[in-house]
Amino acid sequence: MGENNRNKPCWCGSGKKYKKCHLNQEEEQSLARKDLESHSKHLKSKKACSVSNIYPSACSTKIVSAHTISKSGSLKEISENGHIMGTKPSLSGLIKNNGKLSLEKVGINQASTFTGFCSVHDKEIFAPLEDEPVTLSDKQLFLLAYRGMCRELFLKEQNKDTANLLRQADKGQDVITQGFVQSYASSYDKGVDLALRDLKKIKIAMDSILKNSDFSKLSHCIFEFDSVPKILVSAMITPEVDFHGNQLQKLGFQEESYDYIFFNCISYDGHGCFVFSWLTDSDRFCSKLVNSLLTYTDEKISDALVRFCYSFSENTWASPSWWDSLSESAKDQIAERLMHGTPMMVHHIDCLKDDGHNFNAFKIHKRELRVSQQT
Ligand SMILES: [Zn+2]
Ligand SMILES: [Zn+2]
Repeated sequence: MGENNRNKPCWCGSGKKYKKCHLNQEEEQSLARKDLESHSKHLKSKKACSVSNIYPSACSTKIVSAHTISKSGSLKEISENGHIMGTKPSLSGLIKNNGKLSLEKVGINQASTFTGFCSVHDKEIFAPLEDEPVTLSDKQLFLLAYRGMCRELFLKEQNKDTANLLRQADKGQDVITQGFVQSYASSYDKGVDLALRDLKKIKIAMDSILKNSDFSKLSHCIFEFDSVPKILVSAMITPEVDFHGNQLQKLGFQEESYDYIFFNCISYDGHGCFVFSWLTDSDRFCSKLVNSLLTYTDEKISDALVRFCYSFSENTWASPSWWDSLSESAKDQIAERLMHGTPMMVHHIDCLKDDGHNFNAFKIHKRELRVSQQT
């Protein structure tokens, strides 16, 4: 770039003038481990009540560390000596394991928490789920989906900060590397923006259900177990592939929003259930995903759910003795699934198809498809 271009907008698309942006990027001090660590500290310090937009006056100033999977009822039931098996994905952790994830023991107080509700709302909103017997009422199933959704939105907003950090990762690198880093950062950023666009829309729809107690607006597919599940989960995703290896939604940059499905596995009173839930708007691909699962026998569904959890959510928690009971090849299979959906490994079209492993994590005795008649 010649002198004349110093005042032109920078090639990286930041909108800043070149001289104020990438002109001397090669000479800058590169990001160090301490920058990554202070970034993850910064992310952890984020606290906000997810319902302050709808109940602003009722919020308390104290933000609690809220469990997405209830601690007293669920995580405790699968824990051993206060620990469960899960992942702690962090940049420095990934560097330590050469870019591989694995399951490790995590204390239940650290597992599955997020600082996304104030003390008043964490208690009040989820009381019907936490303090009353679980009957799988529309209201209880809504609350499960709602809490998981609030966590996803909370994390996505943090990812926006990570995108900003990625943009600085080319400091001290040569010009070609700068180009690669910026194009990676910008596609990551676009992905985050797209997800935020959809999640904010879903949040508005879910907030309105909560406010109007219109709980029959969600559809559910419920699998009830007659013993305590070995794995618990709470998350939401865009269904990309079904359980038979057929393509559903292709992730990319599209104008209209994607369909999203919520899924939760909880335990209560010595048994438990796995629930898929979705808004009527998202019926097209969510029904396809769920129907592809319902073609299997109960035993095959049980294994399919394990494949699904580990391929699609890092908020999956397992009982330590169950994990120990798995064969080495089953453990390797799961470890590989932990990498699915990362930039290193996108979801393969066949990733939910039967892989021949029996995981014995759930004992299904009842299935129910509860389709919302409301639009
Ligand atoms: Zn620039
Ligand atoms: Zn609040």
